[in-house]
Amino acid sequence: MVGQEEVVRTLRNAVAANEVAHAYLFAGERGIGKTSVARILARAANCLAPQGGEPCNACPNCETILANRSLDILEIDGASNRGIDHIRRLREEVNFSPTDLKTKVYVIDEVHMLTNEAFNALLKTLEEPPAHAVFIFATTEPHKVPRTIVSRCQAFDFRKIPAEKIAARLAVIAEKEGIPIAPDALDLLARKANGGLRDATVMLEQAASYREGGITAEALLEMLGLVGREEVASFLEALEWGNRQAVLDTIDRLVERGKDLELFLADLVELLRDRIAHGSDDEARDVHLARGVLAVKRDLFRSLDRRILVEIGLVSLMNERGAVPAAPPRDRTDVARAGAADSARREKAPSLLAEPPADRPRETESAPTRPATAPAEPGFASAWQAMMQEIEGERVAIAAFLTEASARLEQDRVTIAFHPGHAFHKESLEKAANFQYLAGMVRRHLGDKVSVEIELNDGVVRKPSPREALREKAQLVCELFDGRIVKED
Ligand SMILES: [Zn+2]
Repeated sequence: MVGQEEVVRTLRNAVAANEVAHAYLFAGERGIGKTSVARILARAANCLAPQGGEPCNACPNCETILANRSLDILEIDGASNRGIDHIRRLREEVNFSPTDLKTKVYVIDEVHMLTNEAFNALLKTLEEPPAHAVFIFATTEPHKVPRTIVSRCQAFDFRKIPAEKIAARLAVIAEKEGIPIAPDALDLLARKANGGLRDATVMLEQAASYREGGITAEALLEMLGLVGREEVASFLEALEWGNRQAVLDTIDRLVERGKDLELFLADLVELLRDRIAHGSDDEARDVHLARGVLAVKRDLFRSLDRRILVEIGLVSLMNERGAVPAAPPRDRTDVARAGAADSARREKAPSLLAEPPADRPRETESAPTRPATAPAEPGFASAWQAMMQEIEGERVAIAAFLTEASARLEQDRVTIAFHPGHAFHKESLEKAANFQYLAGMVRRHLGDKVSVEIELNDGVVRKPSPREALREKAQLVCELFDGRIVKED
């Protein structure tokens, strides 16, 4: 038995002292040894010559159980036998003496799946258990097991097995089976198993059959569709610093190499989790990112175009509050130069993707008409950004309108400019309630004397709507493959 030393020690002592309880609850994630321990306990409780609480595995009782021949050991899957009828039958049967052993052992796996009626029936048995029966309930979701049941059980929390222990165990198996595997590949498998020895051994077997000759970490990454730890780490860095280009480039490369985006996101979350657990330098940011990445991952299975979903999800995450770094390393000079145009960088995701490459000048800058973005007053860009963050937290609709705008500060007046195509945005912001709120925010972030004006201005870049952005993409595809759009919805 690998891992779960504490549980095993306690149970061994109970067997040795002849104090096996009538009901146990084994709680913990899948594949970490709950059923294995239950089976060992079933033998130990029936063994004719237990040694220090351990089954001898040689006596007739041990042999009968090991050969799966005993009628007194019952393993029941709670998920498929969840109804009252099953439990009623069990209740009748449990009262009969054991046929070939000392003790009847009922193992109910995933016991939380039982119906309420079934639990109630079970409870009656647990209240007056026959002396010759032991119940072992296993569950991955102990919080779903009624308290009345839990209180009748001796409960054990099964812990995830540490990666080093899994690696050590895998090394033994590999040695025995004659599977040549590199140490870093062992470590990788152990980490990927996420605390479960069963998953780890299954992966080892897969790797062995997939590959002739030695198993390397690199080969494993390829086999499992995984991305190397370093690459995940540098991707996370790009995400944290809002380096959109690096993020999109990496996704591009991953797709090209046929990597599994869902597993990649899982790795990303895991890395964030590790960072948060071991003292992140910016916990709020990392929690925010982890939530966002999880949300994208959750949506993935519904999506036909996983790549675009990941791109849009991660880019919009970078633009939300929390992902905005205090001091971006790469974009610093850019921010200073762009000044008030800063707000224009905080666009909504779909239009981001349709944005012209950075080396092409912004239309704003080359517009012959009155520029919408004047040279910034010092500190305006950051004050504006701080204000936007607060508005995003309080009034999402107003924030959404503002992301389409350009803003500039001249003397004591901030002018919020929209492209004429966005007249609706202007009108909406000018509604009394919205305008009052906006003016209040401006005063708070930019100064008591600063007033607000909203205008339409040809010089403002009109960012395409998500629909337009999608259309643009579709058209690109058409051009590339010489096709046409046959249906839109
Ligand atoms: Zn025995």
